[in-house]
Amino acid sequence: MIHMVKAVTEKVLNMIYPPACALCGDLLGKAERYICAACEVPLPRVTEPACFKCGKEISDNEAEICEDCSRYTRSYVRGFPAMNYDEAFKESIAAFKYHGKRDYGKYFAYEIARSRGRDIAEINPEALIPIPLHKKKLQKRGYNQAEVIARELGRRLDIPVDDKILIRTVNTLPQKRLNGTERQNNLKKAFHSKEKRVKYNKIMLVDDIYTTGTTVEACTKVLHDAGVKDIYYTSICIGRGC
Ligand SMILES: [Zn+2]
Ligand SMILES: [Zn+2]
Repeated sequence: MIHMVKAVTEKVLNMIYPPACALCGDLLGKAERYICAACEVPLPRVTEPACFKCGKEISDNEAEICEDCSRYTRSYVRGFPAMNYDEAFKESIAAFKYHGKRDYGKYFAYEIARSRGRDIAEINPEALIPIPLHKKKLQKRGYNQAEVIARELGRRLDIPVDDKILIRTVNTLPQKRLNGTERQNNLKKAFHSKEKRVKYNKIMLVDDIYTTGTTVEACTKVLHDAGVKDIYYTSICIGRGC
């Protein structure tokens, strides 16, 4: 009975809100899931050669590590971003974060699992930890986008999600308007660990976009101080050349 009600509800919902492509917004055909066939072909997947640290694409003649990673401190072990941050993902992530398209989280987790699932399974982290939002932002937005992705990803890869251990205690200014040093200072005291000693040795942070790496770095430092040895990250997108 419950199944029937669920199926009927889904049918009705699909009539009111027909499933649309998470990237271009076109209505999906019967065989299409999350995104349309036209968007599937040119997906901006991160390909080799890529930075051994942050995972960003690099040119062939660069060293193993990108310019940013050789210039700034990277305390995490390694990163596994799925896509390059192109115009379609920019719009899709903005809709996901600011326009209530919470459902897109399913698609993003599906893409991370599709391109990075094997790497993540190999690392076998004890928990996925979403980059936390400050509670004021959480109230305004209604959900933490990184947590939505982490939950879906954890379900797909069978890894527990811990959204309690890492907290954001300072509601920081938008990073976009700040330069490198300001970003670092802005974030230095923004995160805290809920416990002095965390029970994990190896975890993976989850975020929507990795840009300059300052957020992941700040969270890594906090977790290191709380005793976590190895920290990795994964994200749906990584910014090009930032
Ligand atoms: Zn599309
Ligand atoms: Zn790098």
